Amino acid sequence: MSEERVIILGAGPTGLGAAYRLRELGYDNWAVYDANDEVGGLARSFTDENGFTWDIGGHVMFSHYEYFDRLVDILLGEDYTELQRESWVWIMDRFTPYPFQNNIHRLPKEVVLECVQGLIGARDSSIRGYDGPPEHFGEWMRRIFGPGIVKYFMEPYNFKVWAHPKEMMSHHWLGERVAVVDLERVLRNVILDQDDVSWGPNATFKYPLYDGTGGLYKPFRRFIEDKLTLNIRAERIDPKKRTVTFDDGTVEEYDVLVSTVPLDKVVKMIDGCPSEVVAAADELSYSGGLFVGIGVGRELDTEKCWMYYPETSSPFYRVTYLSHYSPNMAPEGCFSMLTETSYSPHKHEDKTTIVDRVVEGMRNTKLLEPGDEVVSRWLLDVNQTYPVPTIKRDPALRVIQGYLIGEGIFSRGRFGAWMYEIGNMDHSVMQGVEVVNSLLTGEPETTWAGAQAKPLPEPPERLSGAPSRNGAGHRGANSAASAEGKNGMEATQAVHGEELGDLAGAE
Ligand SMILES: Cc1cc2nc3c(=O)[nH]c(=O)nc-3n(C[C@H](O)[C@H](O)[C@H](O)COP(=O)(O)OP(=O)(O)OC[C@H]3O[C@@H](n4cnc5c(N)ncnc54)[C@H](O)[C@@H]3O)c2cc1C
Repeated sequence: MSEERVIILGAGPTGLGAAYRLRELGYDNWAVYDANDEVGGLARSFTDENGFTWDIGGHVMFSHYEYFDRLVDILLGEDYTELQRESWVWIMDRFTPYPFQNNIHRLPKEVVLECVQGLIGARDSSIRGYDGPPEHFGEWMRRIFGPGIVKYFMEPYNFKVWAHPKEMMSHHWLGERVAVVDLERVLRNVILDQDDVSWGPNATFKYPLYDGTGGLYKPFRRFIEDKLTLNIRAERIDPKKRTVTFDDGTVEEYDVLVSTVPLDKVVKMIDGCPSEVVAAADELSYSGGLFVGIGVGRELDTEKCWMYYPETSSPFYRVTYLSHYSPNMAPEGCFSMLTETSYSPHKHEDKTTIVDRVVEGMRNTKLLEPGDEVVSRWLLDVNQTYPVPTIKRDPALRVIQGYLIGEGIFSRGRFGAWMYEIGNMDHSVMQGVEVVNSLLTGEPETTWAGAQAKPLPEPPERLSGAPSRNGAGHRGANSAASAEGKNGMEATQAVHGEELGDLAGAE
């Protein structure tokens, strides 16, 4: 069989999903390359010299796909923990359970009044109707939550996460079908002074027993090791000759390139890339993150998983009790807290002082008690962590993706597709799986395609050496069914619901 050559750039969740699926379908002519020394990309983990394991931000495994669920079973076997997703908001020197709007009864009475008045005003305005859709994310927040909740939580929290002004951001990523705040429920909780928590027996998530979040990705290696090259960076792409040049001078030919390299970078790697495509890439915005891990020399005494920090008493927007996720995340007798602080040209953060500021923020917010001994400090600076859904994003993506597809380059994944709403681990793995399905079996992509503005660029032709939908090597009848069963729109809306529930920005 004369198979066309598929090159995958990046062995993060998207590249691994694509590679795994090629192997599963029995296709042989492919290779995967990554600049890092380990697979997993943004979902990998690190163990520091004191024996604490750290993720690149709190990673909670969601799944919108049966295929992904099965893959997790194959990769982890019995080696996972299962936790109730218990999350809280630290505000005005106290914790309120998440979701914030359902638990404002814990706040001072005058604040409760301001929030409730805002919600009532928002509802009344929405009943009267608005002139057209919201112009930006800030206006969307105000319409849904009213000024009180926006002032105390939505605005400060979202700026801490996205590091971008709300006026730059679109609201489209939240979906059109917005779950409007349940005012009656809010009022009931306020009047009865009762908590209304989002967790419970059904709100559970799995976490790898070993090696942190990255422990889900290392096991991919046993399926793809013979075709995986690490520590090699793609530097140039020649779309005419269909070659990739790497930093060690190697030149690889391809027929199809599946790239998970950030879009803004990949267009700059392409020889002769049209200036309008490069200009469109310059319109894409992102934030970076400073991840600080603090190991503490005592046992953990809480069931909390993660907490949101909207206020200025700390630099971080979120803290995760990582040692609560698995007993192997911290040495015995210790616990660990992982903090996330964003930065961008709109929000500067001093990397040299961040660890001290995090410790100070932990004391301000009572995460660290007097007498607590900090036994480990870990810092990782990651330049691109959130692809920001700005107003300019979708027109720019249309120009870039239209050009790339014409050149046989399929750019997928968190920064490859540059779509936050399909940027979680399950989406990323499935973007890789589905692009391979589309190339080999002709089955349309759902996750990526479902999130794009219509009309889509021309669909790809099937690879000539690919097995037919029911042909030899196609062991994925089950997986195809799962992808079809969860079509792109459904998947996208499910995400929107979840993200919205997570108060816009929390993954
Ligand atoms: C702070 C944070 C919190 C998150 N929380 C969650 C969560 O709670 N739940 C969830 O499901 N997901 C979460 N995610 C998302 C998750 O990390 C991503 O979905 C996933 O890592 C994206 O996979 P990817 O393969 O598309 O990209 P990446 O993980 O970025 O992988 C891309 C790979 O390409 C490689 N590469 C880049 N350039 C080159 C080059 N020129 N040559 C060769 N290789 C190259 C990189 O080394 C990298 O390994 C979170 C992400 C962040 C940053």
